[in-house]
Amino acid sequence: MTKWVYTFGKGSAEGRASDHEFLGGKGANLAEMCHLGLPVPPGLTIISEACARYYKSGRTVPEELKAQVMRGLGNMEKITGRNFGGTERPLLLSVRSGARASMPGMMDTVLNLGLNDDTVQALGHDAADARFAWDSYRRFIQMYADVVMGVDNEVFEEILEDEKGRLGHEFDTDLSAVEWQHIVTLYKGTIEEELGEAFPQDPQEQLWGAVGAVFASWMNPRAVTYRHLHNIPEGWGTAVNIQAMVFGNLGNASATGVAFTRNPSTGEKELYGEFLVNAQGEDVVAGIRTPQSITEAGRISSGSDRPSMEKLMPEAFAEFRRICGALEGHYQDMQDLEFTIERGKLWMLQTRAGKRTTRAAMKIAVDMVDEGMITEEEAVLRIDPASLDQLLHPTIDPSVHREVIGSGLPASPGAATGEIVFTAEEAVIAEEEGRKVILVRVETSPEDIHGMHAAEGILTTRGGMTSHAAVVARGMGIPCVVGAGTMRIDTRNERLIGVGVSLKRGDVITIDGSAGQVLKGEVPMTQPELSGDFGRIMGWADRARRMTVRTNADTPADALAARSFGAEGIGLCRTEHMFFEGDRIHVMREMILAEDEAGRKAALSRLLPMQRSDFTGLFTIMHGLPVTIRLLDPPLHEFLPKTDDEIAEVASAMGMEPIVLRQRVDALHEFNPMLGHRGCRLAISYPEIAEMQARAIFEAAVAAAKQTGAAVVPEIMVPLVSLRSELDYVKARIDEIAREVMAEAVMRIDYLVGTMIELPRAALRAHIIAEVAEFFSFGTNDLTQTTFGISRDDASAFLTTYQRKGIIEHDPFISLDLDGVGELIRIAAERGRRTRNDMKLGICGEHGGDPTSIHFCEAIGLDYVSCSPFRVPIARLAAAQAAIREARN
Ligand code: PEP
Ligand code: MG
Repeated sequence: MTKWVYTFGKGSAEGRASDHEFLGGKGANLAEMCHLGLPVPPGLTIISEACARYYKSGRTVPEELKAQVMRGLGNMEKITGRNFGGTERPLLLSVRSGARASMPGMMDTVLNLGLNDDTVQALGHDAADARFAWDSYRRFIQMYADVVMGVDNEVFEEILEDEKGRLGHEFDTDLSAVEWQHIVTLYKGTIEEELGEAFPQDPQEQLWGAVGAVFASWMNPRAVTYRHLHNIPEGWGTAVNIQAMVFGNLGNASATGVAFTRNPSTGEKELYGEFLVNAQGEDVVAGIRTPQSITEAGRISSGSDRPSMEKLMPEAFAEFRRICGALEGHYQDMQDLEFTIERGKLWMLQTRAGKRTTRAAMKIAVDMVDEGMITEEEAVLRIDPASLDQLLHPTIDPSVHREVIGSGLPASPGAATGEIVFTAEEAVIAEEEGRKVILVRVETSPEDIHGMHAAEGILTTRGGMTSHAAVVARGMGIPCVVGAGTMRIDTRNERLIGVGVSLKRGDVITIDGSAGQVLKGEVPMTQPELSGDFGRIMGWADRARRMTVRTNADTPADALAARSFGAEGIGLCRTEHMFFEGDRIHVMREMILAEDEAGRKAALSRLLPMQRSDFTGLFTIMHGLPVTIRLLDPPLHEFLPKTDDEIAEVASAMGMEPIVLRQRVDALHEFNPMLGHRGCRLAISYPEIAEMQARAIFEAAVAAAKQTGAAVVPEIMVPLVSLRSELDYVKARIDEIAREVMAEAVMRIDYLVGTMIELPRAALRAHIIAEVAEFFSFGTNDLTQTTFGISRDDASAFLTTYQRKGIIEHDPFISLDLDGVGELIRIAAERGRRTRNDMKLGICGEHGGDPTSIHFCEAIGLDYVSCSPFRVPIARLAAAQAAIREARN
């Protein structure tokens, strides 16, 4: 028999935190809190395998699971002294999803389950509060109808708004028992009208309806999108938590709230949270009422005059603070908590590692090391390398005058500028058109997730720090301001109205997600300071790291940026990029279009000083660090004029007839240029090009060595080699030039000649190629292209379809295909080293900045990874994590 159900309650539990793979995060941590003796309402968790089973068996649940749930319910009834469906002391349930990885707000929840026309009376009687019972019943109908029966929530919101208007009430809390009862009647009537069936009165039917809906929500489009964005496998499924309800809407001594044990935005060591009096949890998350701060310090800093929980409910607050400390100590990490206070008694509903901004993650990790809670290695492992992107966000230049047109809460740091759009769809279209936008909404919901992803920044006029917009933007690393109450959206006229301004769609604003401000127009920004906590973490990472991290840099500006991010050399300088600058392209075109070798040499002699000065710049900036320069790689026609106008212009500059030039351009046309006359094939057809480049490199090495006093050891890299004989030929040219330059300069230059491994044949024949090559650098862009046989320039169109249809899990041009391309790399590394055991091995394709691919490079013993300058910090951290994890394996 499968154990489908794990129970918990009253100081004991069948599961543990370590069971999160099948209990889901929420279920596992509820169990753990029970073991810790914390006040948790009793409940049970249906394991996540049941979700997969549900789909396999035509959306049904096995009978033995049902029987186990009924036994669990019996346990809950015993602990609470209540009966599910009972007409004396009815037990109400919450039914919530809980996957292995947290997916905030993506799946469904049903609260107050078990209410019907009879139990509502009993509940009111038992609580001596009819208003509370009818409020709970209408909440239940609304949620159940929406989640399980598919009636749009808006319908109920409209009824409620109409009734409030008719009765002259401003807040939900103003409604009396009789008024709620009337609304319940209206709700039930609407359901019958919409669906032709009555709202189910049988609690068992309600329960299984809700369980099915939670399973079904695993496959709803927003959950599917979220999983896709966060690489969460579909096969995991969600667990279901069924728990006895406790009520935050049981009068003014009741409340509900969420909190973080440290500030999730700044990482400051301070309890940080929000609560609502006389409310249920969904009210906080939905942003319908603006919540109050739980601490006095928080209230004061937000400038609110509404009392904190610390003042209003001092005993419950004191206990809560104690529990926060205990949980943080137990998990040794910042926790995100949900709680409810029912008539003064505190109940814990959830604890999990809190999502945080990267800046907060850094501060928390560093503080926890200083507090002796975790080790430096642990701190390094705590930071998601990809999230370092967030730190690289610009902020508003502190010296500029700020024209503030609105303010709200600083929900996610960094500043962003863009055109105003009011819908997620507009944001997506704008992104496709290459326009930068700020998504402006009253509040966001999970349906907006595409648009949030497409926007530079997000602004909402309602909601708190834990509203949907705030949580999601922080997770995505997008600057965000929420609850900008001083601003208003005029939906009908599509306007954003702020202090002294009325802005329309397309107008430009800037948001400062660190200060919670909205500014008019575009504002000057400054680049972030990468010191402090960041510096300490990176220092620990560098100590733990085995591989070095180089950068792909083609210009002195790139090289400078990369050095400031900690690059330890250049792993790839694509020399062709240097030929596109200024009027160099003209000389390059002359060279390509020359009729014969003499014409080519004449043009090359003009290119030589330009290349030499570029290389001298790179060598000087890198000051003795290794620099790998690659010989010309792309097909020549990339440099040629294409349109008639361009041809006419170039022809006149070269004193040629346009028609002749057109013929020459046509002659260079290739059907498949990526597999054509490029890479080392160019150096073999036109050795004078490689010779000019080699001369420029060696002369620059001499010049830079003289300037800096540091020895320069250039690494010359030959692209797209598949045969040893190709490399033999090109290397002979390079060696010849080296001899010439050394004789001219009367100076010895050490240098290496190596090759890229970017073709499957080269990988397989690596032991032979290594007889000549002194280093290998894996060009995984081309190696992926040629291993799969898919064009790197055209693949994205069908690769997204492949991903959507589950044919491949991820884009192999972003994260290395470990099984196929990875296998070739492994073979090449092993065979190359068999011939030359001290051979330097690196990677310079895009994968060199991707954390998963970096882990693979560590595992197979590469010496370095090379990536674009802005990814250098990511690679340093990912390489450190890989080294730590490999050592622990
Ligand atoms: C590669 O192919 O991985 C590589 C680094 O070269 P390029 O992207 O310039 O073809
Ligand atoms: Mg390549």
